[in-house]
Amino acid sequence: MMKAVRFYGQKDIRLEDVEVPKCGKGQVKVKPAYCGICGTDLHEYLGGANIMPTTPHPITKEKVPLTLGHEFSGIIEEVGDDVHDIKVGARVTVQPIIYDGTCGACKEGYINCCDKNGFVGLSGWGGGLSEHVVVPRNAVYEIPENVSLEIAALVEPIAVAWHAINISPFKKGDSVLVLGGGPIGLAVVQCLVARGAGKIIVSEVASGRKEFAKQFGAHYVLDPSKDDIVARVREICDGRGANVAFDAAGVQAGLDQAIQALRAGGTLVNIAIWEKNATIAPNLLCFRERRYMGVATYQAGDFQDVLNALSSGQLKPESMITKKIQIDEVEESGFKTLINDKDNHVKILVVVSP
Ligand SMILES: [Zn+2]
Repeated sequence: MMKAVRFYGQKDIRLEDVEVPKCGKGQVKVKPAYCGICGTDLHEYLGGANIMPTTPHPITKEKVPLTLGHEFSGIIEEVGDDVHDIKVGARVTVQPIIYDGTCGACKEGYINCCDKNGFVGLSGWGGGLSEHVVVPRNAVYEIPENVSLEIAALVEPIAVAWHAINISPFKKGDSVLVLGGGPIGLAVVQCLVARGAGKIIVSEVASGRKEFAKQFGAHYVLDPSKDDIVARVREICDGRGANVAFDAAGVQAGLDQAIQALRAGGTLVNIAIWEKNATIAPNLLCFRERRYMGVATYQAGDFQDVLNALSSGQLKPESMITKKIQIDEVEESGFKTLINDKDNHVKILVVVSP
């Protein structure tokens, strides 16, 4: 048996003993080292199950209770008979997307938009908050020697930001507005710095998060409760507005401001998961040829790009880790801390096996 943190329902997560999973063909068994707690985990905890399946998931055939943890690094401890290109002892990070590989979206490379998509740590196949997890061989990426297992647990959230920038029209030198200074907004700021943004403007209310945004490289940090965001962004961006904006906040007022803070031809990229529907004024898009687009997680290639950027020193996300806890402290010191003291925390890592 092994220890695993499992989600049962709203405000009900339990550390329990479960069966150790078996490693089959095409699979690898990973011993998780560090696992981050994500905003999605908190949403499930506070109001779930939302995306966690309460009827059998079409691919995993599993349903709640399920093991949590989809942002993790670890060490390969077993490989399937037919797996010859990675060895026991390899240090890896896990790309947790579960996809069928056969639907139209998957065939066109959009595994992140699979008709049946799910995530390790949310939809079955175990998760990073357990002592052992079995995943497909192609879900693991080897960590470069100069990148630690701790940092490798940050690859997943950073890959979300990296991918959003990749599929946006962002070019080096562009002026960018980022809505929200939470973990994803801060990851966007770091990736923008690494990729040569001209001006990076963050809109955030919470004082702790404003400080983090500056620390990670934002050139301007505005407060939507005090500043006129549209006027200030235009002024900072040569009177014209931002080339690209990234919404990592998901609130109506921010959406309205971001559209108007874009220059003609500018693009607003939505990364946020919205709790309710928003309204949009299409004329604001129409008359300035602005665009509004959505992005979902990451695709093949993004994990390797982020690992390369970490190895080369282009990305230095160490200070995103604001606390490390043990697996038996996940609810009290992890979930509850992130909910009650979110201003002072970016990423809490669970030390599963140091
Ligand atoms: Zn598919």
